[in-house]
Amino acid sequence: MLNFLTSWKWFILFALVPLVAALPLPDFWIVQLNYIGLYALTCLGLVLLTGVSGLTSFGQAAFVGMGAYTTAWITLNLGLSPWIALFIGLALTGVASLLVGLLTLRMSGHFLPLATICWGLALYYLMGNLEALGKYDGLLGLKSLSIGDFDLGQGRAFFVLTWLILLTAVVGVTHLLDSRAGRAIRSLKTATQMAEAMGINTFRYKVTVFVLAAWLACIAGWLMAHFQRTVNPSAFGLKMGIEYLFMTVVGGVGAVWGALIGSGLVKLLDDQLQTLLPKLMGTSGSYEVIVFGIAMVLILKYLPDGLWSLVARFLPKSQRKEDWAEAAALPERSKPKTGELVLDVHDIRKQFGGLMAVNGIGFQIKAGQIVGLIGPNGAGKSTTFNLITGVLGLTAGQVQFRGETISGKSSREIARRGMARTFQHVKMVADMTVLENVAMGAYSRTHRGVLAGMLRTNRQEEKQLFREAQRQLERIGMGPLMHELAGNLAMGPQRMMEIARALCADPALLLLDEPAAGLRHKEKQALADVLRQLKKEGVSLLLVEHDMDLVMAVCDHLVVMEFGTLLTQGTPAEIQQNPAVRAAYLGTEH
Ligand code: ADP
Ligand code: MG
Repeated sequence: MLNFLTSWKWFILFALVPLVAALPLPDFWIVQLNYIGLYALTCLGLVLLTGVSGLTSFGQAAFVGMGAYTTAWITLNLGLSPWIALFIGLALTGVASLLVGLLTLRMSGHFLPLATICWGLALYYLMGNLEALGKYDGLLGLKSLSIGDFDLGQGRAFFVLTWLILLTAVVGVTHLLDSRAGRAIRSLKTATQMAEAMGINTFRYKVTVFVLAAWLACIAGWLMAHFQRTVNPSAFGLKMGIEYLFMTVVGGVGAVWGALIGSGLVKLLDDQLQTLLPKLMGTSGSYEVIVFGIAMVLILKYLPDGLWSLVARFLPKSQRKEDWAEAAALPERSKPKTGELVLDVHDIRKQFGGLMAVNGIGFQIKAGQIVGLIGPNGAGKSTTFNLITGVLGLTAGQVQFRGETISGKSSREIARRGMARTFQHVKMVADMTVLENVAMGAYSRTHRGVLAGMLRTNRQEEKQLFREAQRQLERIGMGPLMHELAGNLAMGPQRMMEIARALCADPALLLLDEPAAGLRHKEKQALADVLRQLKKEGVSLLLVEHDMDLVMAVCDHLVVMEFGTLLTQGTPAEIQQNPAVRAAYLGTEH
């Protein structure tokens, strides 16, 4: 419990719930708050799914329906306790969302929202057509929830239950997002390629998030069924699916509290407008739908991060208060001894349609060496880099890493074997701090998952992670910037951050793709210093670089490419003297 309620703010929030229930509020308002709590629970799932992970779903209402119908059918027909029905509902929803997730989450762009619309429609018609579920009339006569002989009813007691569940979910999701698994989840929207290169199975996290969101919706549905004491399909159709998304976006789809603000505002406005507008217009009708439509467009245009972003501006930025200086070091992997063969690239080829982008490239890297891969633009350096790191598949040839064949393996598997990389175009989670971004590098050296993140039983490991991240940042002189948001950094520091992140993986081989691109002169010098220092520390390095001065200054061995082929290789001095290389770079005849 103390682990879970990490701060006095949570205690106060939980204490507020019975306090509000004890206030002499009119019953009408308690009922309103009950609805808001129920909606917010579903919206919280959407924050996780759509706002944080970038997976848009119109199908959440269907999962609410699963929770509601399961408990309705089971309590009415089998006479079981609603509390047992809750777990059966969660099991059913878990299986259904897992299947739907596995089928649809590999789809990209607009296919996923479309698929969730289909899912929402299908379940709606299923509910509406099954005899056992009462067709479109639904099921009537449910009992309200009770604990022992105590009836929770529809009023204050129900309010306390709903809001305690909601706040528990809020705390759980907040904790989750601030954990090893949560940082992986936060990378899903904009940085899956980077996450995979850190050894993160992004598809598994997408499915996990999908199931979590469905479970929250299912719990809301279970509560709602016993609150309304009847279920019928109209509450779980596509229209409600859209409304849940609407509430979440209005409140702020990227923030946990957005779910509460959005559902609160929409529910209250909905009621007010439903009585006010027909009076104003002089005729009856669902005018509130039109008002909401216009409001939605305005909010999307002028306040894309929702109403919560207005509030968030006035909140103090929370800094990590934990102290991890005393945390144990993360275990290190066994490294090859100096001079041992680390990487053996043998006659690799890559064909893009008619173009042989890489044609018979071969070279070796020994432990402790810095090897530079150079060549004019379009020579095939990045393609070679991507072939080695598993981002692209080989057309022919073989790559061996520490004696093991890694050709054909995914970038994730290769990363787990101890190869860490940076990107030619910086890839990061912009709204995470530098420290958090760098900690992602050590993902595959740590283990705590979603549940540990939610329950906050991961503190030991988190401290170890941050200690390592801080150590790597300080190693390359980035310590002072560790609490900055990564997206606020200039290009130079961003590239350095990527190097720190790669170092966090405790790599046996580090690969840098054009680390000097876009850097100013001073930054290039700082980079060269860092690379020389890493060399002194015995790091093995493949440096793909366009900048000749940098490469000449730090590399032990150079591989020169031109038009996809190997022009020559040798020591920097040999390469500098080579007329063919000069010709390739200066464009003169050779
Ligand atoms: P470098 O990094 O040395 O500048 P690249 O490896 O990026 O060169 O590109 C080598 C060649 O392969 C270029 O002609 C480029 O246009 C082509 N190429 C790279 N990636 C692809 C791709 N995904 N599809 C088709 N052609 C590509
Ligand atoms: Mg390139």
